[in-house]
Amino acid sequence: MGEITSPSKSTVEARKKALRYLFEYVVDLLGYKFSPDEEEVDFLLTQEVLIEARTGVPFCPCQVLTGVRELDMKIVCPCIPFHREHFDRMKRCWCGLFVHKDVIDPARLEVLPPDEV
Ligand code: SF4
Repeated sequence: MGEITSPSKSTVEARKKALRYLFEYVVDLLGYKFSPDEEEVDFLLTQEVLIEARTGVPFCPCQVLTGVRELDMKIVCPCIPFHREHFDRMKRCWCGLFVHKDVIDPARLEVLPPDEV
């Protein structure tokens, strides 16, 4: 079996651009947008591209894979439809990659544990 190599910087950048385009379309329909915190967005998208290069799927960069397919499919980005009630209460997703369209300052948003929703 071949060795897994890290993608080049240009490959990562190209894939980030593609994911941005794709995700923007999907989350817009759900009432969300990318966080205005560009540095955070860039970091999280880079992590997703590296995860995708390793696993074949852009899993969430801030949640732990369980190895159970049905559970892990619920943390493929953007996972908003699976955790809608929770995210709508916080006006952001867990990682903070996406926020409600009316959010201007994501730093002011509260992160609530799942059992508080
Ligand atoms: S928590 Fe955010 S970044 Fe993570 S998978 Fe869900 S939508 Fe994507």
